[in-house]
Amino acid sequence: GDKKKIVLRDGVESTLRILQHKTKSKHIEVAVEMPDHLPLISVSPGEINQVWTNLIDNALDALPEGGKIRIEAEQDRNFIVTRIIDDGAGIPENVINRIFDPFFTTKEVGKGTGLGLEIAQNIVKRHRGQISVKSQPGRTEFSVCLPLDE
Ligand code: ADP
Ligand code: MG
Repeated sequence: GDKKKIVLRDGVESTLRILQHKTKSKHIEVAVEMPDHLPLISVSPGEINQVWTNLIDNALDALPEGGKIRIEAEQDRNFIVTRIIDDGAGIPENVINRIFDPFFTTKEVGKGTGLGLEIAQNIVKRHRGQISVKSQPGRTEFSVCLPLDE
């Protein structure tokens, strides 16, 4: 899609509004922590919102009632790093290497396509960025690194 200069927080917040039904019905607490004057990022807004949607939706699925999601961002040299952190059960070591593979899912038939992370990764790569994951029981963190100025 066409690139535009956007405020990261706006995209994250519009994604959260779209997911708010699921967030509220599970009583998930969401905290967004970003500095006020982050540089604008030049992205395809719809594609980047798809990345936030897929990552936040996975966090919502992973969380029990009353779980927490934290979304933070910061500038690191020529990049903006966005982290989506949940306090759910975590990703078992024996599957973490496969989660970005197309059609890999641990969800019941009909509940997961196994495409969310592969799509997110493709979008981030097309923006010349990187996506990575760290997980332990009680804490899963997806980091999306997007380059500034283009
Ligand atoms: P789907 O959500 O359709 O299963 P995804 O590609 O979005 O497909 O995710 C693949 C798998 O990665 C999920 O089935 C789940 O096992 C794991 N996963 C992704 N995000 C998380 C998370 N935040 N916590 C625990 N497991 C996760
Ligand atoms: Mg998913």
